[in-house]
Formats: sequence, C-alpha cells, structure tokens
Amino acid sequence: MNAFETPERQILRESCERFVRKEVTPHLAQWERDGLVPRELHKSAAAAGLLAVGIPTGVGGEGGDLVDGTVVTEAFIAAGASSGLMAALFTHGIALPHLISTGNRELIERFVRPTLAGELIGALAVTEPEGGSDVAALRTTARRDGDHFVVNGAKAFITSGARADFVTTAVRTGGPGHAGISLLVIERGTPGFEVGDKLDKMGWLCSDTAELFFDGARVPARNLVGQENGGFTLLMRHFVGERLGLATHAYSVAQRALDLTLSFVRQRGTFGRPLISRQVVQHRLVQMRQRIELARTYTRDAVLRHVAGEQPVAQACLAKNAAAAACDWVVDQAVQLHGGTGYLRGAEVERHYRDARILGIGGGATEVLTDLAAKVLGYQA
Ligand SMILES: Cc1cc2nc3c(=O)[nH]c(=O)nc-3n(C[C@H](O)[C@H](O)[C@H](O)COP(=O)(O)OP(=O)(O)OC[C@H]3O[C@@H](n4cnc5c(N)ncnc54)[C@H](O)[C@@H]3O)c2cc1C
Repeated sequence: MNAFETPERQILRESCERFVRKEVTPHLAQWERDGLVPRELHKSAAAAGLLAVGIPTGVGGEGGDLVDGTVVTEAFIAAGASSGLMAALFTHGIALPHLISTGNRELIERFVRPTLAGELIGALAVTEPEGGSDVAALRTTARRDGDHFVVNGAKAFITSGARADFVTTAVRTGGPGHAGISLLVIERGTPGFEVGDKLDKMGWLCSDTAELFFDGARVPARNLVGQENGGFTLLMRHFVGERLGLATHAYSVAQRALDLTLSFVRQRGTFGRPLISRQVVQHRLVQMRQRIELARTYTRDAVLRHVAGEQPVAQACLAKNAAAAACDWVVDQAVQLHGGTGYLRGAEVERHYRDARILGIGGGATEVLTDLAAKVLGYQA
C-alpha cells in the first residue's frame, strides 16, 4: 500500500482539511494584510494535535515520522492554506530538530515542549546580510566569557523572526570555515539582541520575516546546542528535512493551483464554448499534472528513504529543485488560464504565484543545491 495513503493517514488528512477550513481559510486574507499569523493559531493547531505531527512523543510531539509531516503539508495546502502559512505556523520544523537530535533534556523542556504545545514560537537564523548561500562563511561571532557567550553580528530574512520567543542561531565560536560554527538558542529579551522591523516581501505575506541584530548579547552557555564548533554538521543534517519540506510545499501548491484551474476552465467560456473543450487547454492541464506527479513521486521517494534512516542529500537537492521549478511553471500557467481574474489581488492563484517564487531561493538556492548535488554525486574534476 502507498505509505502516504494508509487509512490512518487518510484520517490525518481529513483532520487537517477540517482544521484548515475552520481555522485558516476564513482568516488567511486578513493575516496576509497583517503580515503575520496570530499566536492563537499555534495553540489551536496544537490542541487539534496537528502542530507536532511527525515529532517524537518523548519530546512533546504527536509521534509519527516525516511521511506524516508530509501528509500534513499536502492536506493543509489542498484545503486552501498556503506555503506562507505553512512557513509561519510550522517554523518549529526548522528551529527544533537540532535541539531534539542532540537529546539535551534541559533545552527540550525549556524550548521544544512549550513550542510543540503552541506556547512558544521558535525560529532558525543562519542567513546573514552579507550572504546566505555560503553558510561556512558566516560572520556572527560568539565569544566565550565564563558561563556565557557574547554574541555580535546580524541575521537576515529570518522566518517568524518578528514573533519568535527564541532563535536557534548559527554563530562562529571557532576559526574560519565550517569547523568553527556552533548553534546557540538566543531568547527574545536578551540584552543586546534586537529584532528589526518586519520585512516587506513579494509573497509569503502572512509569514513575518525579520532581521536580527546582536550587539554584545550575553547568552548562557547552557543554551549551546550540541558540541561547541559542531553546528555545521547539525545544520547540514537537518537541511535534508527542510529541503524535502519545501519540495512538498512546491508540489502541493502546484496541485492546488491545478485544482483551482480545472474548476475555472470548466465553468469559464470563450467564443461560445467552455475553455476545457479546447485541446490546447486540455494539454496544458495534462502538462501541469505531469510535472506535479513527477515532483510528488520523486519527493515522496526521498521522504521514504529519509524515514528509513538514509541521508538522501543529493536526492533532497534534486527534489527541491525539480518541485520548485514545477511549481513556478504550474502557477504561471494557472494565472494564464484564469485570465484577468488570475491577476487580481485576492485570487488564490495570484497568491500562489507570488508565494512560489521563494521556493527556488530559500533553504538553498537552486544553483547552490545543484552544486551540492554535484559534489555528493562525485560529478567534479
Ligand atoms: C522569505 C524568506 C524567508 C527566509 N527564511 C529564512 C530563515 O528562516 N532562516 C534563515 O537562516 N534564512 C532564511 N532565508 C534566507 C534564504 O535561505 C537565503 O535567501 C538563501 O539561502 C540565499 O541566500 P542570499 O539571499 O544571501 O543569496 P546569496 O547567497 O547572496 O546568493 C544570491 C543568488 O546567487 C546565486 N548563487 C549563489 N551562490 C551561487 C553559486 N555558488 N553558483 C551560482 N549561483 C549562485 C543564487 O541564484 C542565489 O539566489 C529566507 C529568505 C527569504 C526570502
């Protein structure tokens, strides 16, 4: 049986869809205008048992694995949520894995459990104003001073940065390059830690994005995640899950755009006939479906390999690149087939069109992931 379509996962899908129809779609347009989703949404998603799907029960999660997490993303977006909404509500999917995998009980009690209960919001800060692609070159420093680290530097484009209660932050504790990087949990309210204004963006409007500034911020050494100077390995390990998550956003958004387009071309007529009666339209719909199915099948295969304990680094890069490209093309075709209606603010395909553009940039730009895949696959001189 297809692991993504078992009876249990069908029930999970239906719970997600009910939740989205009740708690998300009636408010999403307002949250897009507000530039953020409310904290209450985290609490209600937790109460519905949907915030922590795929996270072990031993740390406060609902249990299950990345297949379940993938089903949640697919179902939320199928029911009318958006990639931006998923980025905002599930930011813990990138902020917590490092804390969980190191098994540090104190960090788990202070940050992981309350976040999964919808009481705290976490973020992951790697990118800096000088660049995000070259993670090994990051410049924010953390100098040990007794039982604290003193942090100086800045982070850019941080998802949920404006709302976050804590930020899992990549800092330089050692020498240059990847071997000098650590992860520190930095809490809002730490003197010397300032959050900049929300950044105004092309898409993902309901997902707040902020710059973070550190000027002599004193962070307790007990907030170190894993080993000092062991941060790069942790980041790379968990980038696989993040990239598969973004690939899932991409093919799910594309599927939703196709579903919306199919209904539109069935009811819209031109020159006395429904649009769907035109062969060119039928072929376009099939081409949209073809790209979506290839992206979904390949991404799901990588998810299954990940769940089986493999680290499909190259496959995650290829899945994200392929799904993002499929999504870009499909949402463009969806707007085209909606005509002027698709260009209007408030049309769902218009939002997906803008939201999709980040998927080939965030979590590793397409070129950078292609470089990484070439390295992993040994396609180098
Ligand atoms: C809405 C949004 C949310 C984000 N959320 C987060 C977050 O939560 N946490 C976080 O840490 N970061 C986050 N980011 C940052 C994101 O991961 C980076 O934008 C991305 O990694 C690219 O880094 P950069 O923007 O500095 O581009 P740069 O590194 O300056 O690269 C610019 C462009 O150059 C090209 N390029 C780069 N390197 C190469 C190369 N070697 N060969 C060929 N071409 C290349 C790519 O096209 C790339 O897009 C977010 C960004 C956005 C816009």
